[in-house]
Amino acid sequence: MLDNVRIVLVNTSDCRNIGSAARAMKTMGLTNLYLVDPIEMPNGQAQALAAGATDVLANAKVVNTLEEAISDCGLVVGTSARSRTLPWPMLEPRECGAKMTEEGHNYPVALVFGRESSGLTNDELQLCHYHVCIPANPEYSSLNLAMAVQTLSYEVRMNYLEQQSAQYANKATPETSDDDAEQYPLVDETERFYEHFEAAMKKTGFIQPKHPGMIMSKVRRLFNRARPDGKELKMLRGILASIDKVAEKN
Ligand code: SAH
Repeated sequence: MLDNVRIVLVNTSDCRNIGSAARAMKTMGLTNLYLVDPIEMPNGQAQALAAGATDVLANAKVVNTLEEAISDCGLVVGTSARSRTLPWPMLEPRECGAKMTEEGHNYPVALVFGRESSGLTNDELQLCHYHVCIPANPEYSSLNLAMAVQTLSYEVRMNYLEQQSAQYANKATPETSDDDAEQYPLVDETERFYEHFEAAMKKTGFIQPKHPGMIMSKVRRLFNRARPDGKELKMLRGILASIDKVAEKN
């Protein structure tokens, strides 16, 4: 399950933070690291800070966009030190650890971390199902990137250990097991749905290409909250296809 938990670092400028993040991950049993368009590729300094976790660093996957890093994930949680203009469903770090371990049984899950200087952009945050904020000192709430990775990886580990001891004591099985899990769609299926939605709304004239406003952000937030499962998403695609037909006739 821990292999399914992916740590994604977006556009990191200082590769020493990447090394420290790799070390933070490995101490918590996580090994799956994605680097989205790093400004400085990991070098000797990063390796020095990774210490015994140079394997995590060496196996890190480098991709160009956040979409590429999460397209095969069923759950994506973005981190943010501050609340944004468009409020998004939030998780406490503890709840985040629980969701990662529960859903990590079914598909890859991702925790996404932002730039040292400016965090994640609004577009990047809107690719996430939930946001998580470490409730730090309100007067100084921004942690060093690798320390944020450490804190949230720790929460994943605590939940994982809890599950293990519950299973060992034969008290309870995890809430979501392979058999009874709701099958949530992966990010690329959901993204194709949003593309279809936007195209259909342009055909009907509900979205005007010159003045799209915030409609798609709000639509994303709405469907995120509802979190349709695979069958429901198929139905929604069917509804859009029926709108396409009428719009094309006209
Ligand atoms: N100045 C940036 C903070 C960047 S800190 C901003 O205001 O957004 C670099 C990264 O560390 C953040 O993008 C986030 O991934 C993580 N981080 C730092 N502090 C955090 C906190 N309190 N809660 C969650 N993530 C945090």
